[in-house]
Parts: sequence; structure tokens; C-alpha cells
Amino acid sequence: AEGRVPALTTRALQATYGGFRALDGVDLHVPPGRITAVVGPNGAGKSTLFHCLAGTLHPTQGQVRYGDRDITRLPAHTRTRLGIARTFQELAVFPSLTVAENIRVGAEQGHITDPEAVDRTLDLLGLTAVRDAPAADLPTGTLRRVELARALAGSPRVLLLDEPAAGLDTAEVTALARILKALAADGTALLVVEHDLDLVADLADVVHVMTAGRIVASGPPAHVLDTLGAQGTPV
Ligand code: ADP
Ligand code: MG
Repeated sequence: AEGRVPALTTRALQATYGGFRALDGVDLHVPPGRITAVVGPNGAGKSTLFHCLAGTLHPTQGQVRYGDRDITRLPAHTRTRLGIARTFQELAVFPSLTVAENIRVGAEQGHITDPEAVDRTLDLLGLTAVRDAPAADLPTGTLRRVELARALAGSPRVLLLDEPAAGLDTAEVTALARILKALAADGTALLVVEHDLDLVADLADVVHVMTAGRIVASGPPAHVLDTLGAQGTPV
């Protein structure tokens, strides 16, 4: 699958809220078969970058490209159909639906009609035992998995994860890391925004450090995260 997945890239991306420039010229490359991480302090613009990639916010300048296609103006649902799925930092699970129903919504958003897609995704994320539980009854760690399952059920080629380890315990983080590595090995392009730098060091092929709407450092985690530590930069 690797050769067929286009890279997601941005060029000179700018985004503003009112007069405030939250993204100030971001060039990012999210290639297939790799885990790309974005780290940075609160307010750096990480979630804003996500919104621009997912189509829930339109940049004021610059481009979002998917392979050689300019998708800057495409709405979010069209990007989902093209294979770009995302999770939300604030979980976007329907509380009144069961786990299986939430995942079916994700499959339908990706235009996957194979009824076994839901069962496969439940199994992959260890959610089969709670498939008929209402989402409202489940703890955060399980809901994070439901959120990931919802995104995966549509068989995305690009997966955007905003703080996927937030609220997870150590065992859940380990399980998450295993799943994300398997997805990358399968050719999926992954972008992860994450506060847990140990997880980033374990997962990422390339790390980008964002501060005040700009990418200020990029490279393999061993190099970039060591440099951060040496500078005492808060992340
Ligand atoms: P991060 O995800 O890195 O913490 P965000 O992208 O959420 O950062 O926010 C970047 C900046 O934009 C922050 O200064 C934040 O206060 C501001 N911001 C984010 N969302 C909005 C919004 N909806 N309206 C106004 N300002 C916003
Ligand atoms: Mg954020």
C-alpha cells in the first residue's frame, strides 16, 4: 500500500483567529509509512495546524497539498472521503451511541460499507467486549480507543492524531504505540501531536517543534528532543 499513499504537505501555511496569527508560515511534510510528530508548548498552534489539515479551519495564506492535489479549500467531509482521518484532542465520541455504533459512523464517513470493517476495528483495538456499551458509560482510556477506532474504521491513508495518549495509563500507551507502529508499517501516513515526549521518542521518525505558530526545529527524535532538553525549552 505504501507506494499508493500520497504525502500530506503544507506550504507557508498561515491561520488567524480575528487579528491573531496562530500559524505563521508552516511547511510540514507527512509522508506515508512514517510517524511524524509535532511537539511544542500550549498555544504553539498545534491544534490549529490540525484543523487546517483536516479542513475544519481555512488558512488565510498558504497551501495544504495531498500528493500533487491542492486541497486547501476542500471541506472536511471531502478530505475524510479522500482518506484523511483525524481524532480530536477533545474526544468526539457520541455518548448516547454504543461503541460499535460510534465505529460504524466512522466507517460510513470513510465510505466503507463492508460490515466486517466494524468488527475488525473492534478487534484491533481490543473493544469487542464493550461493543454494545453506551460510550457515556466508559472511562477515558477506553474512549480514546473508541475515538481512534472511529477514525480507523474508514481505512484512512492519512491519520491525524491530536494528543492520542492524553488520559491513558502506561499499559494503554504501550498498546497505542504498538497499533500506531503497525499502521505506519502498513503504509499509513501518521501525524501525531503529543505532550508525552517519551512516547514521541519511542514512536516518531521525525519530530517538529512548534513555537508561536512556527516550526523552529525538525529532525529525528534523538537529536531534536536532546536539543530541547539541553535548552530547557518547555514542551
Ligand atoms: P496548541 O494546540 O499548540 O496548544 P492551538 O492551536 O490550540 O495551540 O492555539 C494556538 C493559539 O491560537 C493560542 O494562542 C490560542 O489561544 C489561539 N486560539 C486557538 N483557538 C482559538 C479560537 N477558536 N479563537 C481564538 N483564538 C484561538
Ligand atoms: Mg492543542
